[in-house]
Amino acid sequence: MLDVLIKGGTVVDGSGAPGRPADVAIAGDRVVAVEPLPAAGAARVIDATGLAVAPGFIDMHSHADFVLPGLPTADSKVHQGFTLEVVGNCGASPAPLSPLGRQDVIDTSALVVPPLEWDWRAGVSPTSPRSAGPRRPRP
Ligand SMILES: [Zn+2]
Repeated sequence: MLDVLIKGGTVVDGSGAPGRPADVAIAGDRVVAVEPLPAAGAARVIDATGLAVAPGFIDMHSHADFVLPGLPTADSKVHQGFTLEVVGNCGASPAPLSPLGRQDVIDTSALVVPPLEWDWRAGVSPTSPRSAGPRRPRP
């Protein structure tokens, strides 16, 4: 039994090959088939006629490491199709966080997420993203 069948779309698989008509079958959290399939047998059918169907996108330049700890489901990014973010860009990262930069991170991140307890040695919490990016030196 399929949980989801995305039917009638043009599959763009990221390989560089042109898009092709195909259906995408999902069981649990896995894509189990990418081929023309009948709708029968799927718990949910999504009509993708006229739409592109693609795997998640990678945001290669994100500063989400400052906000993901406060918004861990990243709904706005997921709704845009992003499934991976590269963080620690531009020489800035909240971890490891030096005592000199701690207040800057707290103040900046508080503009978009609820105030968090930033720990310079371990990030924010066990569920926070880890980044090894360097801290920007203070002037
Ligand atoms: Zn940047």
